[in-house]
Amino acid sequence: MAPKKKTIRTIPQQRTPPREQEAQVRARNFEEVNCGYRLEDALREADRCLLCPDQPCVSGCPVGIDIPRFIEQIAAKNFRGAYDIITNTNLLPAVCGRVCPQESQCEGVCTVGESLEPVAIGRLERFVGDMAIRDGWANVPYVEPSGFRVGIVGSGPAGMACAADMAKAGCDVTVFEAFHQAGGVLKYGIPDFRLPNSVVDAEIEKLARLGIKFECNTLVGRLFSIEQMIGEMGFHAVFIGTGAGYPSFMGIPGESLNGVLSANELLTRCNLMHARDFPAYDTPLQPGRQVAVIGAGNTAMDAMRVCLRLGADKVHCIYRRSEVEAPARAEEVHHAAEEGIEFHWLTSPVAILDDGKRGVRGLQCIRMQLGEPDDSGRRRPVPVAGSEFEFAADMVVFAIGTNANPIIGQTSKLRLDRRGYIATDDGLATSIAGVFAGGDIVTGAATVIEAMGAGRRAARSMKHYLGLRDTDVVFRDAAAERPTLFGIDLDEHDFALVRLPRPQAPAGGHPPAAGT
Ligand code: FAD
Repeated sequence: MAPKKKTIRTIPQQRTPPREQEAQVRARNFEEVNCGYRLEDALREADRCLLCPDQPCVSGCPVGIDIPRFIEQIAAKNFRGAYDIITNTNLLPAVCGRVCPQESQCEGVCTVGESLEPVAIGRLERFVGDMAIRDGWANVPYVEPSGFRVGIVGSGPAGMACAADMAKAGCDVTVFEAFHQAGGVLKYGIPDFRLPNSVVDAEIEKLARLGIKFECNTLVGRLFSIEQMIGEMGFHAVFIGTGAGYPSFMGIPGESLNGVLSANELLTRCNLMHARDFPAYDTPLQPGRQVAVIGAGNTAMDAMRVCLRLGADKVHCIYRRSEVEAPARAEEVHHAAEEGIEFHWLTSPVAILDDGKRGVRGLQCIRMQLGEPDDSGRRRPVPVAGSEFEFAADMVVFAIGTNANPIIGQTSKLRLDRRGYIATDDGLATSIAGVFAGGDIVTGAATVIEAMGAGRRAARSMKHYLGLRDTDVVFRDAAAERPTLFGIDLDEHDFALVRLPRPQAPAGGHPPAAGT
């Protein structure tokens, strides 16, 4: 008998909630807030997908994951098949399942979401990604060396995605990272209670298995330049994914007081340099008792929740617009509020107050109201005359946005745009032949999945530049030691093995002319 067709009435009506730590408990530890799906949760949620023919979720995903097909595989309990489908497009499912803003991407356009709550696509993706880490799955492709050497600058999601695609195309890939550990914002920015560093490390380990080499503690632009990489160092192509980690301040009085810092500094000290484990690690970080964090993006939410976990009595969020305009994911605002963060919407700081010993005693603020929309399309915040007020704080953290990391721009002849980001064409080629760029260093601060999409787009252009065909990759199933393509056993099906072409690496390390 043919299976009964699912309809919006026959599927489970409620979205399956993940297990979560209690707000009061988790606010004082660094364990994950969202504990993910159990098997029965994943099967129930997968059953909510209608497998609709339009598949709006696929176009809602910046890298076009074949979402209905992977959910179908979960429902059929073929979890390895689901993993193969996801990793065909996205190499970091355990990361993206946790931190992508699905509500404004795939889930935002889900057909089920027109009548009920959308299918929890991100949670299902995470379920598969976590299972892959637990069971040690990795898709190691069959590749023949192409003879080309590729250098990647920056090991965030953009750099990692580009590195993986170029390694799968047979290139000898080296990733240079300024910090002592790879991972970019995934490691130094997003705290463990949202994305454990162990998950990022497990995903990076898979890249290492592709043969990618990581050289950490290497600040490109200071140790050597982009021009040297493409010249005397012999790289045939270079990708720059250095992100936008340069913090902004407001330029208000009191910013040089002790106790004022950027969210990036706070998060890096805590997440990457283990200030939270002081004195086991000797990274200094004086946590405040009354903390004011300025901004309401993901970075601000992370900074506030880190301060709570470091032992602050009270943490305030100061934001000049209303909750509707807050750039953070709705789930993060909700979690922060549950943990006891106090939100001051329509409030802007005008000065940080000195305690007389070069420390912070408080913040002077002004109330705002919303006026006409500005260039961003959001209603412009306008100060309300005479509404200034003070409140007590001994630590002030700025999380009002970041700028391009400037070193590469300052030390190369790369063309930059007027804001200091690297200028590229549509294929992410820069003004220097053989040098490509993508992720936050091109677009400004964006999202993990967009950065990965950019890394993959740049890899396609780079392959074209090197004369490598952009072809599907044949995977060797590590356990079975047999070649597979998207989970299909090729030996068994007597498929011809699709091998990557073997282009001629140019003699003398000179890249071929662009467009070959
Ligand atoms: P990055 O991740 O910034 O990586 C760039 C890397 O390059 C860094 O490791 C840096 O050390 C290195 N580098 C810089 N200069 C040099 C140099 N000269 N030489 C060598 N290495 C260099 N996005 C989401 O989708 N969901 C979220 O929940 C989310 N939360 C966030 C929370 C925080 C605190 C922050 C800061 C960002 C968050 N984002 C989130 C945004 C997302 O993390 C970024 O858009 C994404 O990481 C950008 O990737 P990237 O590879 O371009 O750059």
